[in-house]
Amino acid sequence: MELTFAIIKPDAVKSRDTGRILQRIEDEGFQIRAMRMRHISQSEAEGFYAVHHERPFFASLTAFMSSGPCVVLALEAPDAIRKWRTLMGATDPAKADAGTLRKEFGASIENNATHGSDAPDTAAFELGYFFPGIELAR
Ligand code: GDP
Repeated sequence: MELTFAIIKPDAVKSRDTGRILQRIEDEGFQIRAMRMRHISQSEAEGFYAVHHERPFFASLTAFMSSGPCVVLALEAPDAIRKWRTLMGATDPAKADAGTLRKEFGASIENNATHGSDAPDTAAFELGYFFPGIELAR
């Protein structure tokens, strides 16, 4: 079993797609191990996306991520990191495969509905950024 970190981003919460995305998560076989709704500040978004701070879209991305509440999740499944990235689809919804969450719920390369860790080290950092260890303990 593996844990990954996921976000239902502010665009999808605002468009009232949270429930549909949670249903897809469970239908695809993930166990929700932890979940919280949270409206993060821009500085909290900057800390979360620190690896992207040199990217030209950093200011816009962190403003978007702090524009409204999001839902943060710890998801468990065999091969959860790769499986969740596959379910999300490509970063740009226009390039995402049919049936993926970003294709169905994303509007643009920035407002793309969901986030998922891309590797074990980022999953560990991102899970720890939002969830104290006690919430993930068995
Ligand atoms: P991800 O791993 O698929 O989420 O993609 P990245 O790590 O490359 O980018 C992080 C997030 O930044 C994406 O999910 C988008 O919300 C946003 N993003 C990525 N590329 C662009 C871009 O070219 N322009 C803008 N405005 N936002 C972007």
